[in-house]
Amino acid sequence: MAKVTAGEVDYLMALLQLEEAGRDMTAANVARELSVSAPTVHEMVRRLEGDGLIERDARKRIAFTARGGEIAREAASRHRIVERFLTDVLHIPWHRVHSEAEKIERTLSDEVAERMRAAIGNATTCPHGHPIEAGARVRCATRLNEVEPGTRVTVLRFEDERDATLTPIADAGLRRGIAATVATSDEDQVVLRLDDGGDATVGVDQAGTITVWSTPTGD
Ligand SMILES: [Zn+2]
Repeated sequence: MAKVTAGEVDYLMALLQLEEAGRDMTAANVARELSVSAPTVHEMVRRLEGDGLIERDARKRIAFTARGGEIAREAASRHRIVERFLTDVLHIPWHRVHSEAEKIERTLSDEVAERMRAAIGNATTCPHGHPIEAGARVRCATRLNEVEPGTRVTVLRFEDERDATLTPIADAGLRRGIAATVATSDEDQVVLRLDDGGDATVGVDQAGTITVWSTPTGD
């Protein structure tokens, strides 16, 4: 069987993240999640299909083959364990661990990965809210940019883990588990009134990468 490349694993992980979030596994959604062009994604989708890692139905919806699903879940699980190790044991800020994990996760021996798993105790998610037992369906929720003003929200998950996306979000004062009320939301930005006090402002593109649990406050 052909060796799976690091680039292929990245795409399999992006597909897994869509599946976990209950979103359609389509090339268009992968392009959006990874911020890459449609032709680039189509090229990679053809390769994944040719290597027997995914299948597509007549409507071009993507599904994992058994082998592709296993590779995606193993890689995602390891990534999330390494991230959790970096935050909880080495105390690296949560918005910077994704890129650090990417640098080391594929060179770890199984023994080191198992010891990292032991070191993080009973943690069930990575620092951004994604399940360590990869493939578990995550709780149904909405993206912050889709929430009406006046709604109460709790931050559940950061879908785009890249440092460049997370740093302004962290600088604005957001983190996992924070509770707030949406003060305003327009085509430029979303302003949150934090329960802890103060406001947090994020651009609408960043808000689209933040998954929240929301409850309307009514009036
Ligand atoms: Zn993560």
